[in-house]
Amino acid sequence: MISLKKEKKCCLCAKPIYNNLVYCSPSCRRKKRKQKLSLLRPSIHFNGESTEIISPGSLGAAVELIIAADLMFKGFDVFRALSPHGCDLIICGADKKCFLVEVKTGWKNPQGEIRYPKVRKDKFDILAVYLREGTQIAYFPSLDKFRKKDSL
Ligand SMILES: [Zn+2]
Repeated sequence: MISLKKEKKCCLCAKPIYNNLVYCSPSCRRKKRKQKLSLLRPSIHFNGESTEIISPGSLGAAVELIIAADLMFKGFDVFRALSPHGCDLIICGADKKCFLVEVKTGWKNPQGEIRYPKVRKDKFDILAVYLREGTQIAYFPSLDKFRKKDSL
């Protein structure tokens, strides 16, 4: 009997496939997943430029410095953690109190909500999210209650 089944093609490279899978190989499946993810999470930008050529370690450090500068512009005294583990920054605000700041990169979903990787909320006081488009930094909770009463 002649099979009337339509020939299936890999969703990524269009190679013919002869089973019930969608991709011809695990490598195509991984590549497609990466493509979908990068659509969902834009690459990180700074001053309108993509930062794709920079290593993830350097990128993380640079984003921390951007956040540190933003917090300094907002009137906080900023300290950088020396330990590689634990929080990223410490700021001193109202009444000489210090607060732990965790820095993440985030993105906006199609509904315009800010998303970011999973964080452990018991590890910091303030979450600073650098939006990957490079146009906005969001703080959770808002920085108002941490501000110095008499800035400068
Ligand atoms: Zn393929």
